[in-house]
This record gives sequence, C-alpha cells and structure tokens, in this order.
Amino acid sequence: MQSLWRDEDAGRLTTPLDLRVYTSRLLGREPALVLHGGGNTSVKTRLTTLFGDEEEIIYVKGSGWDLATIQPAGFAPVRLDPLRRMAALPALSDTEMVRWQRAAMIDPNAPTPSVEAILHAIIPFDYVDHTHADAVVAVSNTPDGPARIAAIYGNRVLVVPYVMPGFVLAKAVRELVRSLDWSRTDGIILLNHGVFSFGPDARTSYERMIALVSKAEDHLRSAGAGLEPTTSLGARLSDQHLEPLARLRRAVGSARGRPVIAQVDGGATARQLADRPNLEGVASRGPLTPDHVIRTKPLPLAAGGNWEEALANYGARYQEYFARNATINHQPLDPAPRWIVWPGVGSVGIGDSPKDAGIVLDIARHTARAIDWAEGLGGWRALPETDLFQVEYWELEQAKLGKGSTPPLRGKVALVTGAARGIGRGIAEGLRAAGAAVIGTDRDASIADLTAGDDSVGLVADATDPAGVTASVQEAVRRFGGLDILVSNAGVFTPTQPLEQMTDPVWDQSLSLNLTSHLSLLRAAVPFLRHGFEPAVVIMGSKNVPAPGPGAGAYSVAKAGLTQLARVAALELGRDGIRVNVVHPHLVVDTAAWSPEVLAARAKAYAMSEEEYKRNNLLGVEVRVRDVASAVVALVGPAFRVTTGAQIPIDGGNDRVI
Ligand code: ZN
Repeated sequence: MQSLWRDEDAGRLTTPLDLRVYTSRLLGREPALVLHGGGNTSVKTRLTTLFGDEEEIIYVKGSGWDLATIQPAGFAPVRLDPLRRMAALPALSDTEMVRWQRAAMIDPNAPTPSVEAILHAIIPFDYVDHTHADAVVAVSNTPDGPARIAAIYGNRVLVVPYVMPGFVLAKAVRELVRSLDWSRTDGIILLNHGVFSFGPDARTSYERMIALVSKAEDHLRSAGAGLEPTTSLGARLSDQHLEPLARLRRAVGSARGRPVIAQVDGGATARQLADRPNLEGVASRGPLTPDHVIRTKPLPLAAGGNWEEALANYGARYQEYFARNATINHQPLDPAPRWIVWPGVGSVGIGDSPKDAGIVLDIARHTARAIDWAEGLGGWRALPETDLFQVEYWELEQAKLGKGSTPPLRGKVALVTGAARGIGRGIAEGLRAAGAAVIGTDRDASIADLTAGDDSVGLVADATDPAGVTASVQEAVRRFGGLDILVSNAGVFTPTQPLEQMTDPVWDQSLSLNLTSHLSLLRAAVPFLRHGFEPAVVIMGSKNVPAPGPGAGAYSVAKAGLTQLARVAALELGRDGIRVNVVHPHLVVDTAAWSPEVLAARAKAYAMSEEEYKRNNLLGVEVRVRDVASAVVALVGPAFRVTTGAQIPIDGGNDRVI
C-alpha cells in the first residue's frame, strides 16, 4: 500500500486540525483501509478558553462522519482530562459514556464523539489513526491468526485479543499498556477488528498505518494471495435473472417489513465468492470486522432460486441466534438478510435506498476478497456469534444507521415515461423527493440530466418502440431490483385538425403514442409490478376525455381509448394487487404545450385575457406541474391504498367535467 501524502498539499496546512482532516481523508480514500463511516482518527492540542485558561483538547472523529469526506466540523472537541479519567473507571455504561463525553465537549453543537474516543485519549501521541484494514483483519481471521500477526510484526506492535469496541476495549488496552515502551511501538493490532497507529505528527501516524498494512499485504502476497483491487459491476445481469431478482426483493422486503432496494454485483470478486464450492461453509463464518454487522447482519444468505424457502430458513436461524444471545432488554431486529450470495450470479445488496444497497455491496466485495485470502492461509474464521450479537445489538452502533423521519416512498422503485420535461419531469422529481428510486425515460436526449446521485436515472427510450420500452423496464429492475410504481405519461398534443380535414399521419401519431405505447409499457411492466410493493400505475389522461374540444379529435379519441385501457387494466390487475388510476390534468400553464403563442391564441378564441384564460376554472386558480406531481405522488402512495379504476381531474374544477 502506498502513502498518498503530498508535501505540496500538506505544506499549505497550518493548524493541527487541518492536518488531521487531510490525513483522515487520505485514509478514507483507500477502501482497503476503511469503508463507509468505518475507522476513526483524532488529534490532541491545546486551546485557550474564553477566560484565558489553557486546556488540553482532543478532536476526535464524530459519529456519522465518513473519513473520505470529513471536514473540520466532523471532529468533536472534547476535554482530554475527563476522557482519561473515564478510562480509569471500573465500569461505565454506554449511555453514561456518551452523556459524559458530550458533557466534556467544548462545543455543544459538535457531533457525538466516536465510540473509541477514550482509547484515542489514552494513547500518548498527538495523532492517532484507526482503520479496519482488510489485509490485517483477514490475516487475524484465520485459525493461526495470532501467530501470523506475531510473526509479521514481532514486538513492534501491541496485539490485543478481540474485545467489544468502546469502553471495554479502551479499558483492556489501558491494562495492556501499563508496562509498554511506547517509543518502541508502531501500532496496536486489534485481532478480528483493526489497527491503531499513532505518532507525534500527522504524517508519522498516517505513514505508520500504511507501513503496518503493507506488512500484512506482503504476508498475503508471499502466501500467493492476489492483492489487486476488488472489481465490481461485472457482466450485465442477464434477462433471465430479472424476474428471480424481483421475487427476491419482494421476499426480503416482506421479511424486513418494508420496501427495499436490491442491487446486484456480478463483478469478478463477488462471483469468485458466489462460485466457491464451499460457499455454504465460508458464508456462515461471520463478517470481516464487527463494524460491518449493522450493514450486513452477522451472516449473508447464500441461496439461489427458491427464495421464499431460503428466506424462511434464514429468518428462523436468525431468530434462534437472537434467542441464544438476547437478554431481557433486547428487542429483536428484523430477520431479513442484507447481503445475499447468489451462486452463478454474484452478490445482492439490500438497502432502504440505492446508496445503502451500494454500501452493502462494497462491504460484501471487500469481505469476499478477505475470505479468499484467509482461505488461502488455512481457513476463514471470524468472530463467534456472541461477539457479533453484542455489536449488532449495541445501541451505539444502531445509532449510526440514523433514525429520523422516513420519506413515504423510501425503498420503492418508480418508472416515469416522458420525463425529460414538463409534467413527466415534475412527477419524476416529486417521486424522488418522496424517497423513491426513479428511472425516467424520454426519446429526447435531455433526459440524461435526470440522472443525479444514486437514486435517479434518465434513459433515452422511444415510447413507441416496444423493444426500447421493454429494455427500459428491465433496466429499472436491473438497477434497483424491481418495480412498484409506473407512471405512463409519454404523450403528444397533436395539431388541431377538424375530423373532416384529419390527416392520417396526425391520427396515426396520436394513436401510436397516446394509446398503443401505453399498452406496450403495461405489457412489459406488469410481470415485474406483480412482485412489487403495493404496486400502483398512474395513466396520464386529459380533461379532453370527459370534456373533448372541437379540432382535438386525434388527441381526445386516443386519450379516451387510453382511459378505457386503464379501466380494463384496473379490472384485470386488481387480483394481483396492482392499482391503476387515471389523472386528467388541464391547462397546466408551466409546460411547453402552453407556450406564450398558444396561450395567446386560445385566450383570444375565448375572448379572454391570458390571465383570465389561465384561471378559467371553478376555483379560479392556475394549475401547475407541481400540482399534477403532488397528486400523482399521493395517488401512488398509502393515502390511496384502496383506490383503483379512478379518474381524478387536476384542473381547478370544470363544469363540463363535473
Ligand atoms: Zn474499529
């Protein structure tokens, strides 16, 4: 492993905290050291208080911050003396530890200090770095791990057998270092957990970490292990696996008690684990480091195909594990797996959002590689389940997952057609804001700018091309694991032509896009919606259905046919739990269809001012894209759980419709 330290970057930094931020990010940039919020760092310094007194302070990483992106505000400034005195206490509950640490902070708005703050405090160096380095932990997760660690490091490190992180670990280390000569020690190896390094300055502590990890890597290399980076996202998931994936997602979500996102990693590293002949054995021997347990549960589910049975077995085993380890104070967490190893395919990551599912896959990939290394050294042997249980059910770990309010559509997957602009765009953004993962399609290339973060994807697809429609539905399943919400919105307002002068191209264009394309989409989507969570379809109708206008025959006839299609769909799909409803918006003023010229012409035809025409409805209001979007978001959500086959006007009230 290479040091990423650069004098030209570090040289500009002057304060100890800035240098602490700098090398923390260097650690965070290396996923083989820390993953997603793992690890923690600190720096000790002196501050002058408001009253002119000097105080010893430790800035320690705040819980919930990620080393890769940490900022000065991510470090909690805590008085050193109370932390050191805490280490000397005979016992300290988690609740008390957190309360007294917070009380010792000099900034009450800073984040809660890392659970390892006391351990950082008792190490007598200004800079302290802690990681869960893959190579070091993998070597220690073998039958003769302690002997190998001793052989690799000699007496240059302090080796600490596994104990629970937090106060207990700090206490154990305090006992072990009583007679330690710190000047002859480069670091602390926590068996089955991770590494601490330290030093008088940021660079020394960081580069000692790199050196310690490199020694473990050299050991692995000499044993023939491949140390190339883990590879993700291999071959595209084949079409034949899409329906099983949607069924898996449904089964896991049912066990979890809410909708989930399921993402597949078919890359080389994940495949290597999935295709192991002794998969069942290695998959039942625990995680890389206990810190991962809150993301992955103690064990992955290794299964393919018969998901319902596999989930039931996994749930039963999880309940037995809970019963074996719980005390009267424990409430069982849900028994659903977060990581599935699917033979012949790879890993499936489960999360409340695409980001969470991706985190599981990152951890899974690093674990898969570590298992491979450890198997080469005589066998993968992680912690016993009692230790894993302590961490999984540790309130300070569960707190890392965050509580807070859950958006109403969190975990759901939505597909919106015609989403490049206007109503479709507004709906796609509204669904995303409500927590759904969204695929938007459009034939216009500008749909690409819908892609944002992990949970919103714009795809170019022509709604009138059935093959393209099928591919876009498959892409939604491939990316997010299934489909729950379908907003069949793509349409066109064809040129005004009285029936007598109607041209065939205008008539055909309207029927093709405004009617037939919606059938193609339904046909492609229903097999997946059937496995969705409270699946809902919204069809974009028009006020022209109940109240047609002269000259709009091609449009009105197609939209009327589309409404009838939706009604039949509601009849046919009700037994599968799929709701189908229609919205009839009218005169949505902030769309391209109502350009200033069109608005002026229509207002003139009705002998109104444009302002009057825009509010020409019973409520006297302007109807906007956001009104349509919020109605659709509500319609696909729990508020309309028992409504199907309905037609809902979004028009400010129209006497011809009522
Ligand atoms: Zn740790």
